[in-house]
Formats: sequence, structure tokens, C-alpha cells
Amino acid sequence: MRVLMIAPPGAGKGTQGALIAAHFKVPHIATGDLLRAHVARHTHLGQAVKQYLERGELVPDEIVLDMVRLAVIAAKDAGQGYVLDGIPRNMAQARATYTIVHELGMTANVALHLIAEDQELVRRLVARASLEGRADDTESVIRRRLTLYKEVTHPILAWYAERGILLSVDAMPPAEQVGQEILGALEAMRPLVDGVPDRLSSLSAQRRS
Ligand code: ADP
Repeated sequence: MRVLMIAPPGAGKGTQGALIAAHFKVPHIATGDLLRAHVARHTHLGQAVKQYLERGELVPDEIVLDMVRLAVIAAKDAGQGYVLDGIPRNMAQARATYTIVHELGMTANVALHLIAEDQELVRRLVARASLEGRADDTESVIRRRLTLYKEVTHPILAWYAERGILLSVDAMPPAEQVGQEILGALEAMRPLVDGVPDRLSSLSAQRRS
């Protein structure tokens, strides 16, 4: 199973991404986690991206795309599946991610979109701030992340809808309920996904688009 997750901050990408990855036994590739790990380890890359994360801005595309290319190559060796969480975040990343996974014969089966209201997203992120102390969970940075999501991330959903792989799920209920909904929908697709070679599914996706 190969899943891309597209959701505003606070919708539950991390939680649900980990659940899907555990259920289908595939790697969970979360760009935000990878970037924060670099910052925590004070790597060269971490120093380059720290300011972007703290301000809630997108880090330059080349940086995340290089990271993702390596992670997807590792996922291919590990058994062909993945959950990509946090990328793509704009149209350029959507196209570049498609090129990367297509070249590896690993195009996504599903683009999972989590939907929640702004007020609930802010409430969850503010609550998380006191537990996890993430540098970008302050009210002003949260607002900036939400604005960026609406302006540059949300528009890419139409592209996945055209390719026929968009799955939208209501992320307002408690996490456990949302998780059951997602796994139920993905399980229903499993026979289709498992039986179709990547070359054919990407050809039919191209024909549809
Ligand atoms: P959230 O969705 O709650 O903002 P993430 O952990 O997915 O949390 O991302 C945190 C931050 O990491 C983003 O605000 C951004 O600075 C950076 N980031 C993560 N993924 C990307 C990406 N694909 N492109 C650019 N920046 C990214």
C-alpha cells in the first residue's frame, strides 16, 4: 500500500500516518519529523532549515525532495510500500514527488485528505504545544502554517482527484474513530491495489488525467 497524506496542521497526519504504516507494515516517511531530527542533531541540514521550521514557512523544495528520494528508495528495498506524510505541500512538490516515485515504479495508490475545521485544528495544536513543546506550535506560527496550507497545499488536491486516487476523510471525530474509518477505506481498496502492477496503474492514472 502506498499512501500520500495531505492535511492541514493539527488534522492528525502524524497519528494516522503511524497507524496506517503499522497496519500495512510499510515505512512512515514524515518530512516534518525528518527535518526536526536534523535540527535536534545540529546537522548541516538542520542548521539550514531551523529558521523555516520556527517560522512555519516551507523549507526549500530541493531539500525535502532530496530527503524523500532517499527515503522512498529505502522503502522500495523494504517491500514497496510507504506512507508519505508532509509531502507534497505545493504543486511543484506534487509534480516532483510524482517523478521520483514514478521512476522507482512506486506511484501512490491513494492520496488521503484529512478534513477538519480551523477552530478545532488550532485547539489541538495549542493543546499539543504544552505537551510536546514544538517550536512552531505558538498561536502566530500556527496561523501562518494554516494560511500556507490553504494557499499552496490545498489546491493540489484537485490534481489527485483528477488522477482518481483522492480519498477524503472527516478528521473531526476522536483519533481512534478517524483511524478506523481510514483503515476500513484502505482495506476496501487493498484487493485493487495489490493486484495491479504499478506500470498499469500509473498508465491508467495518466489516461484519466
Ligand atoms: P504540520 O503539518 O503540523 O505543520 P509537519 O511536521 O508536517 O507539521 O511540518 C512541520 C514543518 O516542517 C513545516 O511547517 C515546514 O517548515 C517543514 N516541512 C515539512 N514538510 C515540508 C515540505 N514538504 N516542504 C517544505 N517544508 C516542509
